[in-house]
Amino acid sequence: MSKPPAPKKPRTLAAQALGDIEPQTKGIVPPIHVATTFLRDPDNAYSSGYVYGRPDNATVRQAEAVLAALEGGARAMLFGAGMAAATAAVMALPEPGHIVASQVMYWAFRDWLLREAPRFGHTVEIVDTTNLDAVRAAVVPGHTRLVWIETPGNPLWTITDIAGVVAIAKAAGARVAVDSTVATPVFTRPLALGADLVMHSASKYLNGHSDVIAGALATATPDDAWWTRIGELRSRHGMILGPFEAWLLLRGMRTLDVRVRAQSEAAALLATWLGHHRSIERVLYPGLPQHPGHGVATRQMTGYGAMLSVQVHGGAAAAIAVAAAVALWKRATSLGGVESLIEHRASIEGPGSPCPANLLRLSVGLEDPEDLYADIDQALVRSAP
Ligand SMILES: *Cc1c(COP(=O)(O)O)cnc(C)c1O
Repeated sequence: MSKPPAPKKPRTLAAQALGDIEPQTKGIVPPIHVATTFLRDPDNAYSSGYVYGRPDNATVRQAEAVLAALEGGARAMLFGAGMAAATAAVMALPEPGHIVASQVMYWAFRDWLLREAPRFGHTVEIVDTTNLDAVRAAVVPGHTRLVWIETPGNPLWTITDIAGVVAIAKAAGARVAVDSTVATPVFTRPLALGADLVMHSASKYLNGHSDVIAGALATATPDDAWWTRIGELRSRHGMILGPFEAWLLLRGMRTLDVRVRAQSEAAALLATWLGHHRSIERVLYPGLPQHPGHGVATRQMTGYGAMLSVQVHGGAAAAIAVAAAVALWKRATSLGGVESLIEHRASIEGPGSPCPANLLRLSVGLEDPEDLYADIDQALVRSAP
């Protein structure tokens, strides 16, 4: 008797979008299902399983199945934005309570946690989650409902030990959610490390082409009351992703693996080269041995990702001047696309941000790293002392 086939690797599953064939035409690329309503059977049942387009959509389900496979989860859910996914997770917590969140994280969600989550009865504590002693000191058994971590943390690329936080949270009866947007499922699998929920801004690497705003959650425990409630809220609040966006995301995820590996290789080269540049004070990239999170990243990740930041000599003015002087890099916010982006991050985060004033955030795309370096080198030489 032949052995059962080994489970297919994530790269294989994603490249073929799980290998589904459209039954009517045998098309190897799925159609976009745009119907908002579905025929009821004469016996009053809905045998197809579809009733209406706000709770559910077949194209969205296909993209969700691919992401669940990539995360090694049982189920994924797609939303109209990363922020919709993150906020739905908090609003769906079974009861109000204490939330502990990473100090270095996506600024708009930190701001939502501090300003909006209290309206839902939560108290929010911002903690340096790279320090497990600080997490241990903040988590209150029986009172803390959720520990929200982002790793690598934007824009310093701080690394939080997911399994370490999970152990502390579980002992206190709290859940753990991980914003894994920057790591991508190619480099980190938070569910395998014990997290209850993984969140992505699918607008970034998952889609990868800077042409879709989308968000995602994935879980290993879809029967859990929290997951069920998240699904109810997505339907009630109309937060589902549109079918065309889901289809583009499905297409983008086919190349996720090769994209992020190539982008991460280029980022590592740029981090090394920029580390030797006389206009640069510091390079922040978890792949560099001197980065404070390097040790945990090496244990937890299978690659260091494609995001890095540089602190330039000469303060905020010099950093803004360098961003103004690039030609190939695009001066824009966001990350994870095939085109490289540069951003003076403190300008967008505003007051209260832990982002240093002289920091430039670099999202490395798929261009040749030598071209990327040459462009940033000429900008640094012209604009930073
Ligand atoms: C962009 C981003 C978000 C927000 O996602 P949107 O799709 O813009 O709503 C959340 N977390 C991280 C790490 C991000 O980069």
